[in-house]
Amino acid sequence: MSERRPLKFVMCVCTGECPGFAKLELWKLINFIRKELDVEYAIVHPQLCADDGDRFWKDFLKEGDKGVTYVIGACDPKMQGKMFKDAFAEKGLEFNKNAFPLDLRNMETSEAMKRVEEAINKLVAQ
Ligand code: SF4
Repeated sequence: MSERRPLKFVMCVCTGECPGFAKLELWKLINFIRKELDVEYAIVHPQLCADDGDRFWKDFLKEGDKGVTYVIGACDPKMQGKMFKDAFAEKGLEFNKNAFPLDLRNMETSEAMKRVEEAINKLVAQ
């Protein structure tokens, strides 16, 4: 029987100033994810698509570590793919396989919690 791929949750909130995340209680969501859901850990970066976001991915993603799924709470999944695929490719990973992007914009906290919980449970069940 194969072991389940570890899940690591990364949240991006558009600097925290963007109206798309205005309704979200960030720390309530993050603490729910790290304490209640089956993830290795949950972390926050303020702006993953900025230069320091690139540097973060470079440090954070491990070369050839195809056994991990990075669940990313941020903006439109297609946009995430365009913005992050090169960083994944640089480490020998494929965004389409190693990332699970979620759009958590314009949600109340409870809605975002439900969305993330459903996604994590789906991944855990695979
Ligand atoms: S990755 Fe998406 S959510 Fe994060 S700062 Fe860029 S546009 Fe905003």
